[in-house]
Amino acid sequence: MTLPPAPEPRPTDAARALFSELTGRAPDGLWSAPGRVNLIGEHTDYNDGFVLPFAIPHRTVAAVGLRDDDRIRVTSTFADGPVEVALHELDALFPTRRDEQGTGSDHAPAVPEWAAYPLGVAWALRQAPSTGSGTQEATGSGTQEATGSGTQGVDIAIASDVPVGAGLSSSAAIEGATASALNDLWGTGLDRTALARIGRRAENEAVGAPTGIMDQMASMRGETDAAIFLDCRSLDAHLVPLGVAEAGLAILVIDTRVKHAHSTGGYRERRASCELGAATLGVPSLRDVAVDDLPRARELMDDVTFRRVRHVVTENQRVLDTVRTLREQGARGIGDLLVASHLSMRDDFEISVPELDTAVEAALAAGALGARMTGGGFGGAAIALIEQDAVDTVSNAVGAAFAASGFAAPALFTVVPSAGAHRDA
Ligand code: ADP
Ligand code: MG
Repeated sequence: MTLPPAPEPRPTDAARALFSELTGRAPDGLWSAPGRVNLIGEHTDYNDGFVLPFAIPHRTVAAVGLRDDDRIRVTSTFADGPVEVALHELDALFPTRRDEQGTGSDHAPAVPEWAAYPLGVAWALRQAPSTGSGTQEATGSGTQEATGSGTQGVDIAIASDVPVGAGLSSSAAIEGATASALNDLWGTGLDRTALARIGRRAENEAVGAPTGIMDQMASMRGETDAAIFLDCRSLDAHLVPLGVAEAGLAILVIDTRVKHAHSTGGYRERRASCELGAATLGVPSLRDVAVDDLPRARELMDDVTFRRVRHVVTENQRVLDTVRTLREQGARGIGDLLVASHLSMRDDFEISVPELDTAVEAALAAGALGARMTGGGFGGAAIALIEQDAVDTVSNAVGAAFAASGFAAPALFTVVPSAGAHRDA
């Protein structure tokens, strides 16, 4: 008889243990935030468009305790060791500026990149207008000292079971867990949408990754059984019941293990193309371009810019179509929309990689109703909408296709829509 493998420590236990290793005491509390899968609506968020993500069961946990000085110390099971700075030093560390090409930072902060996520959240939160008990000064230039809240030091220990760099937004999860903890302990009193903005500001300005608001909103505001239909211009969010299990279906995640990085290269280039397309069309953002406007757009811009524009414009429409189809027909109706989204990212936006295409093709060939890459692209994960009883068949088919192509084995698991950020203990 073979014994089952020892269970992995849950991230709550791991964060608690790491905290006591760091400080020799128990934390004041534990806060967690999930990763997310984006069902559809890719690279539409920073174009003021629509997205339809949901939070997944995988979570990042922050065990946090107040200190009696003004220093902030962070550590993570993912990192080599703790990083410690005085809170007032954060204002000198951030924001990080990238060079014109966006290929790297010309003012790289003097902390390891992973630490820029939690420290960036602390920095952004100290700059935010407070609705809590603390007094506040006007914000604006982003350089003023915070008062009232955010002046007491903290120790933070982080553990996670969100795959890192897999397009499942471990970045929003670490931001959401940290922001929730500091918001409670510092009494900043911000709501979940405001905390999502704090996370985004940390990612954009402290880390230097030019991402939109989708990931943070999904992680902060996720709910069990529902996707979040988010208008990234107004930040209006509506829950859309997915009913995947009720329809006898499951969502399989295929993590290709090809790591992507948002703070470099392609992501930044795609953003620039979208801005050029919008400027050429004389609109504030591609959100303001309809599918019917595409023939005119084709006349006005080069082929590459046009195809980037066409992806965003048609993807926005596909999100709207997906929401309507979910309401009218349920999850079984959305397969073709997922496939169309993938093809648009492969051919027009050109952010797929061979591993993602193989995952999608193999899943569809094995009977998936629909499949697409999810997240920013250039690696990361794909999702497949499959029959509940086909999890093994599809997983095996994808594994075999990867082996036949000489790719490293993917990680395969199913996900259900799960709760957003909250306090655990
Ligand atoms: P994704 O969000 O798709 O996982 P990103 O590149 O946006 O990928 O974010 C991954 C980065 O976030 C990691 O390289 C690391 O710097 C940071 N990060 C995420 N989770 C953790 C963690 N648990 N501990 C420390 N850093 C983390
Ligand atoms: Mg991310």
